[in-house]
Amino acid sequence: MSCLLCSELVQKNYRFLDIILLKRIDSLICSGCQSSFSRISLDHCKQCFKEAVSGICQDCLYWRNKGQTVSHQALYVYNQAMKDYFSRYKFQGDYCLRSVFAKDIRVALLAYRDYSLVPIPLSQISLKERGFNQVQAFLDEAKLPYHNLLEKRASEKQSSKDRQSRLATQQLFTLKARAKLPQKICLVDDIYTTGTTIQLAKQLLYENGVKTIVSFSLAR
Ligand SMILES: [Zn+2]
Ligand SMILES: [Zn+2]
Repeated sequence: MSCLLCSELVQKNYRFLDIILLKRIDSLICSGCQSSFSRISLDHCKQCFKEAVSGICQDCLYWRNKGQTVSHQALYVYNQAMKDYFSRYKFQGDYCLRSVFAKDIRVALLAYRDYSLVPIPLSQISLKERGFNQVQAFLDEAKLPYHNLLEKRASEKQSSKDRQSRLATQQLFTLKARAKLPQKICLVDDIYTTGTTIQLAKQLLYENGVKTIVSFSLAR
């Protein structure tokens, strides 16, 4: 099998025991690509998993000063390899790439069994352009159930805004009509940057009676 990212042949080192047990070896990317991604180490912001922060990061302090809480978990550092991955997956719309991190996502989110998983939606325009919601595709591939409770209004693209205007964004989300809200929600996104998107979704859900909200993203 060739690597999903660079087409290099993926070496499969079957151990005798794996063959006996018919254990599936499911590495979808080569070891070179694998090593270009960096798992967030234990040395991270206690609230949002920002790498190389002891205590609480600047973004979380900003939210604390606004009276908002952060309870976020992320798996990978948003480094160059991750940027390149998302550029192919999202902006070039390479749907196959949804599976690269499916196993990591499944393992991490199984810890949130008590929570309803709610993916951050795309606006109708972005969904039409891309053809798929990259977060839902992650969850589908990870075989995790989720609830589409939110809708996103059409707005200028987040990535075209600078940091300050991202932090000050107006509400982007609305509730889907007649959505019955669970008590505990884990919001799921692809990339956590400043936390604005998550905070807006949380604000709306809290206003509508949800009791506990945490969040998760693949990259931070
Ligand atoms: Zn590769
Ligand atoms: Zn933080």
